[in-house]
Formats: sequence, structure tokens, C-alpha cells
Amino acid sequence: MTKKNSTLTTNEEKKVLPVSPIVLDHHIKTLAPLLQRWVDSGKISQVNLLTGQKGIGKRAMVHYIAQWLFCSEKENLLSPCQKCSHCLKAQNQSWVDFIEISSSQTNEENLKIEQFRNLKETLGFGAFESPFKIIHIHNAEQLTTQAANSILKLLEEPPPGWLFFITTHDATLLLTTIVSRCQVVRLKPFSVTQIEKILEAHNTPKDRLPVAAKLAQGSYEKAIKLCSQEYWEIRNKFFKSLENPQNEMNLLIDQCAKTPVFFELILDLSENIVEDIITGSNINYDYKNTILKLSKNAEYKLGSLDAVQRFFLELGERIFKARHELETPVNKKLLIQEVLIPWVQLA
Ligand SMILES: [Zn+2]
Repeated sequence: MTKKNSTLTTNEEKKVLPVSPIVLDHHIKTLAPLLQRWVDSGKISQVNLLTGQKGIGKRAMVHYIAQWLFCSEKENLLSPCQKCSHCLKAQNQSWVDFIEISSSQTNEENLKIEQFRNLKETLGFGAFESPFKIIHIHNAEQLTTQAANSILKLLEEPPPGWLFFITTHDATLLLTTIVSRCQVVRLKPFSVTQIEKILEAHNTPKDRLPVAAKLAQGSYEKAIKLCSQEYWEIRNKFFKSLENPQNEMNLLIDQCAKTPVFFELILDLSENIVEDIITGSNINYDYKNTILKLSKNAEYKLGSLDAVQRFFLELGERIFKARHELETPVNKKLLIQEVLIPWVQLA
């Protein structure tokens, strides 16, 4: 397994509390019925699965729910007081009864069986200072089959007072035997307007804001990343390589093969350019001329508008497939070449 680029994984370890008001307002609408049920019945579901696309704050919401459950002075039924000792500990990530199991702690791409051994050694022990011990399994699609099998029994009959929160962007990548044990909540993506507001609060350069908000397709974390210098440069490089593939494309292929997040960015960008060409959505308005040239070249080379439409629809399908293949142990260099070759043919 290749190691993740360390500069890009540090974000995941960042404090996520307090959750930004826009994110909280958005997700609490989806979560409120479940949380209210817990309050009304006095019974909390012990194994919970939060799904929803990457970068919409699933981890942040697990931390928020944990803080709320630990809070000893809840003012409002669905929000923690932010002042009691439990809330302060949660905000500082000096958790006592909260355990997070994530691949970014080991800088590997998988969640391995060893990461659950320590947890299992505490079987028979309850929480230290709260009524609950909360365990968050982050990006559970990264569980190895062995690791997933090793926790099945624990999820089937969780010890009293233990609450599990499992998060994933794609529940179909989990063992069905895990999903069937869970109370599932699907968190929703954000609107372009909501993402624009979040970007504004992040002091994003104004010229990047409208492009990033649309490109991110509902994920505010993706939008924030897109606006970073590192990502913005990759985007510029991609467009340059579309204008001049002979000089730029190979370098870009190497960069993407080494760094999966850049690969994902290229897939996002390719998908959006396809959309711009087919529907005239003009998401990448700052590269309008490049896109127009691609579309004209396509018409010239393929002969008819119908053929152009077919070409880009097929390319869209290839990109969609590549996204799934990227989750599997494939040769990344070959995969990115396959996605980029049709673009080169158009130049
Ligand atoms: Zn509190």
C-alpha cells in the first residue's frame, strides 16, 4: 500500500469542534428525528452509521453528537451547553470516554485488525466519567476484511454503555453484515449557496469562490481544499495540459499517480468539463475559451454534434468507473492515463 501524502492527511486530525453554524444547521435537520427519539425514549441506539459523500462533515457531526451526549448541562435538548467540563474537554479534544479509530492515525490506507485490539482489551470496562463510552470508526470503507470480521460480534452485542458511530462515504463498500447491525442516517450534501457562505467565512480569495463552490458538488471540505494554493495550481496545470498535452500531461500523470487526492481532483475537473461541454453549464468560466476550443476540436475530429455528444457521454462514464476503481488496488498510473488519453486526442 502506498503511504498517503502527509501534508494532506493532517487536515483530518484537525479539531472539528465547535462545528460551524452553517454545517450544524444543515445536518441537525437530518439528525434531529433520531436524537429526539433518543431523548423521548431514554434509549440510545448503540450502533450507528452516518453515510454521505466525502467532505460534508460526518466526522464533525460524530464529535458534536458525542459532546452533546457527554454534556452535563444541556440547555436545549439537541445542543450541548459549551460550558461544562465535558463540553470543554470535547472542544479541546482531551476526550476521556471517546475513542476514534481512523487510518490517518497510522498514515496507512487501511483500518487494520491491530487497531481494534486495544479496544477489545477494554471489554468489561465501562466509561470513566460519563454514562457512555463512544467509539468512532472513521472512514469505515477502509476496514480490511479481517478487521471488519473481528468487530462483527462487538457490533452485534455491544457491551452496556458502549456506543458505536461508524462513518463512511459509501455504505456499499462495507460488509452487509456490518450495515445490517446499524441505525443508518444519510447526511445530505450542501447547496452551492451554503458552500459559498462557508468559503466566505474561510476568507477564500474571491475569484476562486464561485468556481470552487460549484466544482465541489456538495462537499464543503472539497471546496475549501480546492481553494488552497496547492489544489488551485493542479487545476491550472490540468487546464494548461489540455491546451498543450505534449509538454504538460506526463508530469501531471506522475503527480496524480503518486497522490490519490490529486487524482480525485483531476476526475472531478474532467467530470465538470464534460458537463460544461454537454450542458453548457459554464462551471469553469475562467477557462471558457479552453473548453470552447476542446469542444470545437471534438466537432472537427468527430464530424458531427451527435458524435461529440456520444464521445463525452462515454468519457463521463469512464470517469465515473475510474472513481470506483481508484478505491481498489489498481495501477494508478495506468488508470489516470486511460482517463486522460481521450483529452489528449482532442488537443
Ligand atoms: Zn456541556
